[in-house]
Amino acid sequence: GPGLLPGDFYAYEDLLAPGERETVERLREFLRSEVAPIVTDHWARDAFPFQLIPGFANLGLNTWADPDSGDPEPSNLLKGIIALELTHADASIATFFGVHTGLAMGTVLACGDAEQQRRWLPAMSGFEKVGAFGLTEPHGGSDVAGGLQTTARRDGDEWILNGAKRWIGNATFADLVVIWARDVDTDRVLGFIVEKGTPGFHASKIERKMALRIVQNADIVLDDCRVPEANRLAHADSFKDTAKILRQTRSGVAWEAVGIMLAAYEIALGYATEREQFGRPIGKFQLVQDLLVKMLGNATGSFGMMVRLAQLQDAGVFKDEHSALAKAYCTVRMRETVGWARELLGGNGIVLDYNVGRFVADAEAIYSYEGTREIQTLIVGRAVTGLGAFV
Ligand code: FAD
Repeated sequence: GPGLLPGDFYAYEDLLAPGERETVERLREFLRSEVAPIVTDHWARDAFPFQLIPGFANLGLNTWADPDSGDPEPSNLLKGIIALELTHADASIATFFGVHTGLAMGTVLACGDAEQQRRWLPAMSGFEKVGAFGLTEPHGGSDVAGGLQTTARRDGDEWILNGAKRWIGNATFADLVVIWARDVDTDRVLGFIVEKGTPGFHASKIERKMALRIVQNADIVLDDCRVPEANRLAHADSFKDTAKILRQTRSGVAWEAVGIMLAAYEIALGYATEREQFGRPIGKFQLVQDLLVKMLGNATGSFGMMVRLAQLQDAGVFKDEHSALAKAYCTVRMRETVGWARELLGGNGIVLDYNVGRFVADAEAIYSYEGTREIQTLIVGRAVTGLGAFV
């Protein structure tokens, strides 16, 4: 159909409602005109394009419906396809968006009370305030539930936070950073909103990354950082609350993997028809067609899995193991697929200007963030056997 991505072989995007499709077309136009032309240069320079933020505000992507507006909740298919389309243009831009809308807004939505939601969500939804999500710590990410060392101590109407966080996306410039910390008195895991400029909050950019170079990740130090009780998320009092957010955002990461696969496939297909060797386009060789068809199979199979997962999410029968399987499976297929695309481009596959190299590098971060393949496997393994194998 018109407006479909060439790699969407089974026309899954036809399943969007008409209004949703308009949203995706608006997004696609923004990505084509504003994002695609600048990503290679920003990736090479390790620079975040702050000039895009007002554009995101104008797009009105509605990943959240203001309860006062009477608008319906956006479907999970729409949210997924937004993540896919963003990643298809650039995985760092998708990560910026996913951290802000999925992790940070998702936390306020899941764990904030009505007052906290009114205070922060409309400004976040309009990109007037950008959010970050601080869970991972320098000594480890996989064992973050058991090993969380950042502390919170109640002092009258305030809390005093101490500790360190690592890898926190958007945190170098975010207006609001969610910080997960352990209450020294009760040992419970609590969530706090730390606002920009709060004394004792220090964020420094992680330099020289070899993946997702456009998105900014921070090392955070919390040094007697005081936040008011009103900034403690009212409905977060154990790691189970954190896990509820990750259940949702991990499916978003699986959608990102599908976006990367479609992009890599489309670039490879274009190259196969243009590049000539032995007097003919390389796409005429059976071994090259084999690469293309394997890529298409990976992308199409993973996309189908995600469409069904979105239905389970909409129906409210979606569990941790469902998103864990999708995250593990789609990112493995993604890694394989970008490797084949790079192979098909020969030497040009490692040149940034041919785009595939950026996806190959970025895929490595997506493969590991929001829980590695091993951790997702242990979540699914525990669900299917009834036997936990984490330790
Ligand atoms: P480790 O936990 O040290 O793992 C190292 C290896 O050991 C992995 O292969 C792992 O699978 C394996 N392993 C660990 N335990 C087991 C086990 N029981 N069985 C088998 N294997 C095991 N975090 C945030 O809070 N907010 C963010 O915004 C954020 N953004 C990120 C952006 C990027 C680009 C990256 C790279 C990371 C980001 N993270 C963020 C952190 C991310 O979620 C962690 O890196 C991830 O969960 C893995 O943790 P780790 O890096 O500490 O690896």
